[in-house]
Amino acid sequence: MSGFVFSEKPIQIESGDGVHLQSADGTGYLDFGASYAVTPLGHSHPAVVDAIQEQAATLTYVQASYPVEVRTELYDRLASIAPGDLANVWLCNSGTEANEAAMKFARSATGREKIVATKRAFHGRTMGALAMTWKQKYKAPFEPLAGGIEFVEYGDAEALEAAVDEETAALFLEPVQGEGGIHPASGSYLERAREITEQAGAALVFDEIQTGLGRTGTLWACEAAGVVPDMLTTAKGLANGLPAAATLCADWITEDAGDHGSTFSGGPVVCAAANATLETIVEQDLPAHAGEVGAYFREELSSAAEEQELPVRDVRGAGLLVGIEVKRGANRVLRDLAIDQQVLALPAGRTVVRFLPPLVVEQSHADRVVDAVTEVLS
Ligand SMILES: *Cc1c(COP(=O)(O)O)cnc(C)c1O
Repeated sequence: MSGFVFSEKPIQIESGDGVHLQSADGTGYLDFGASYAVTPLGHSHPAVVDAIQEQAATLTYVQASYPVEVRTELYDRLASIAPGDLANVWLCNSGTEANEAAMKFARSATGREKIVATKRAFHGRTMGALAMTWKQKYKAPFEPLAGGIEFVEYGDAEALEAAVDEETAALFLEPVQGEGGIHPASGSYLERAREITEQAGAALVFDEIQTGLGRTGTLWACEAAGVVPDMLTTAKGLANGLPAAATLCADWITEDAGDHGSTFSGGPVVCAAANATLETIVEQDLPAHAGEVGAYFREELSSAAEEQELPVRDVRGAGLLVGIEVKRGANRVLRDLAIDQQVLALPAGRTVVRFLPPLVVEQSHADRVVDAVTEVLS
């Protein structure tokens, strides 16, 4: 094999249907990772497949400076579901690009350099977003990265108050830290972040690349706290598997956002897939469904851990963003889940097993995963 793929798995996936994936040897897997939350509607959802096929046959691509109906529709759709007044939409192709754009826009709009991020944060792997990411392993070989980043303890409002000042362009926060180990922020912390940034004239940016699109039980995780940022980034499941991302901005940001661009910004096929995805998420009220099934799943995991005395330190999360902190290494658990139980999940650091299933999973799927986890950890 001549590809260059990091940590390849010993399972060759051939097809996907709903919440299941099938390997080349005919084995079916329950997909409770959704390849990092990329398929909120499940695999090969007919609404998305139809939208892609139709758009590809009509107009596969034209540059963003020519208005195209599907793209205009996506701008309007995102503006209408954005929190508060974040009606200005920048489209791009990946989460890290959406965060790079937010960094650039914040510096341009404020005329300031400093950016505050949090310990354990994950914001992507390009030189700017990577600079705001905490883990040394991801950063050290590639330095120097973008400068001007200061890190504070996540969840500590006093640390925010000390760090965010009149020189700060932006504060970046994940409402629930995903890659960093599934750590939800309290509503009061997000409220204080809003007050502190507003007072300092800095932009508050919520990275909802993992938490958004209904994952945590509301369309955006910040809705639960009633906090509206100045920018919000979304990606991962936005087009149910095609590369799509967006930076949603308040008016004061776009008034002086500087010059930015990308060849593939808002390609028609991706826009068609994103429209179909968002329409389905909203129409079927998948955020509420994710909230209900997620709460059930976490309760069942916690009671199994307690009743069976499993080697589990904690079960935590919000909606269908769920982490189990295990006493032994997460990778071994993930391997046993995949090979022995045909359940696919993800790590979040060395000791946390992370579940990010499609939002359409039912209680029966959650039951199957609880049984599989019990089996593997017993
Ligand atoms: C995945 C992720 C990113 C990076 O997205 P890519 O599409 O991989 O560049 C950024 N922030 C968060 C919170 C993520 O979960």
